[in-house]
Amino acid sequence: MKLNMNRNNTRGILLIFNRIKKIGHNFINWLYPKKCVFCQKELKDNEADCCEICYNKIEKISDTYCTKCGKKHEVDEELCFDCKRMEHVFTNGRGMYVYEGVIKKSLFGLKFFKHTWIGHKYGKLLAKFYMENQLWEVDLVIPVPLHKGRYIERGYNQAEIITKAFCKEKLLPYNTKILRRIKATTPQKDLTDINRQKNMIKAFKVTDKSVINNKKILLIDDIYTTGATIDGCAKVLLECGADKIYFLTIAIGKGL
Ligand SMILES: [Zn+2]
Ligand SMILES: [Zn+2]
Repeated sequence: MKLNMNRNNTRGILLIFNRIKKIGHNFINWLYPKKCVFCQKELKDNEADCCEICYNKIEKISDTYCTKCGKKHEVDEELCFDCKRMEHVFTNGRGMYVYEGVIKKSLFGLKFFKHTWIGHKYGKLLAKFYMENQLWEVDLVIPVPLHKGRYIERGYNQAEIITKAFCKEKLLPYNTKILRRIKATTPQKDLTDINRQKNMIKAFKVTDKSVINNKKILLIDDIYTTGATIDGCAKVLLECGADKIYFLTIAIGKGL
C-alpha cells in the first residue's frame, strides 16, 4: 500500500514536471520562434533546421564536383576551370552548397545583419556534411580570420561562429588565435582574380609555430570563390610547419 502511494506520488511529480517543461518550451518558442536556416521563414513544429520547401529544393554538393576545390560542375572532369588554370597551395577542400539563391541571401544576413544564429546552424550542418562524406582526418580546425578593424566593426567573425558549432558537434580542437589577418585587405568580391591573389600576399601571420607544427589543418570559412583567401592562409601555415591544409565552406561559387 505504502509502495503504491510512493509510486503514485512520483508519477504525479513527473507529470507536473513534464507539463512545466512543455510550457517553458512553448514560451521560448513563442519568444524566439525557430526559423528556417535558408529562407528564415518560421518553422512548423515538425521541422528541424529548415522548412519543407527548402528541404526539397536545396541540394548538397555531392556528385560531380572538382576534386581539388569542391566546386560543383556539370562536366565529368576532375578539375574545374579555375583549378586547371591556377595552382593552389591547399591540399583539398569542399563546399556544402552552391553559392546562389537563398544560400547567398542567408550568408549575407549572417555576415552583414548580425544573424549569428545562422552561423550556429550552418556549423552543425557542416559537421553532418563532413561525416556523411567521410572527409579528411585533421588535427586542428582554424577559422579564416578577420582583420581586427573589421572584427570590431562587425562584432564577430562569421567563420569563427561556424567553426565553434562545427567543432562542438565533431569534438575537434579549434584555435581562433593562432592565425591572424594582419593586413586590412579590400573585400575580395570587389577585385579581379589576379588582384584577389595580390590582395592576399602577406595578409596573414601565424602567432605560434609550435601549435601547428606537423599538423593537418582544416580551415573553415563561409564562402569560397577563387580560393585566393584560403591559399593565402594555407601558404603561411605551410611555411610555418603545418603538414596539410584542407578547407570546408558553407557555400562555393559554381564551377565552369
Ligand atoms: Zn526555408
Ligand atoms: Zn576546382
